[in-house]
Amino acid sequence: MRLVVLGPPGAGKGTQAAHLAASNGARHIATGDLVRREIAAGTPLGQTLKAYNDRGELVPDDLIIDLVTPYIAATSNWILDGFPRDEAQARALDAVLAAHAAPIDLVIALCVADEDLVTRMQGRRISGSTGKTYNLQSSPRPPDDPGPFLTRADDHPDEIRRRLAVYHQATEPLQTYYAAKGLLCRIDGGGQPEEVAARITRVT
Ligand code: AMP
Repeated sequence: MRLVVLGPPGAGKGTQAAHLAASNGARHIATGDLVRREIAAGTPLGQTLKAYNDRGELVPDDLIIDLVTPYIAATSNWILDGFPRDEAQARALDAVLAAHAAPIDLVIALCVADEDLVTRMQGRRISGSTGKTYNLQSSPRPPDDPGPFLTRADDHPDEIRRRLAVYHQATEPLQTYYAAKGLLCRIDGGGQPEEVAARITRVT
């Protein structure tokens, strides 16, 4: 299975992509996680990425394409989460996939209203010990995760607004790009994660 999960920040791409990957034996490739891992490792690339990430801005296309391409090329069975984020990235992905004769099977676009996304992102907490993401409203921390529970640097109100603006300007047009290829399936991303997963299961 080769599937792209599109959607605004906070729409649940990570949760749904992880679920799809586990149930299909596919690799979950999340560019946001790759970026945060690089930042945490303190590499020179990580220091460059940090400035963009903390401001809620997209990192330059060439950096993200170089970062993610080896992961995509390493397996023919993946769920992409957070990539592509603009048309230049989508074209770069098409080129990588054409070289491996491994086309995209489906693009899922998760749709959630901006007001709901702001509430979700403000409630998001990441465990410093397990790396798992919880939400104060929809998926509270389990008792066996010792935490500490941290807010993402880009989940603060100004950065959230900037990320939504970037999404509408750069990423949302990809729905048209993939619809023209007959690959797009729009899914209501509202409600509990299990309800969204059930809607996705119906189309995969
Ligand atoms: P995410 O966890 O997907 O919301 O990504 C967090 C941050 O990582 C974004 O705000 C960007 O700074 C960076 N990032 C992740 N994926 C991409 C991408 N495909 N293109 C550019 N920047 C990205």
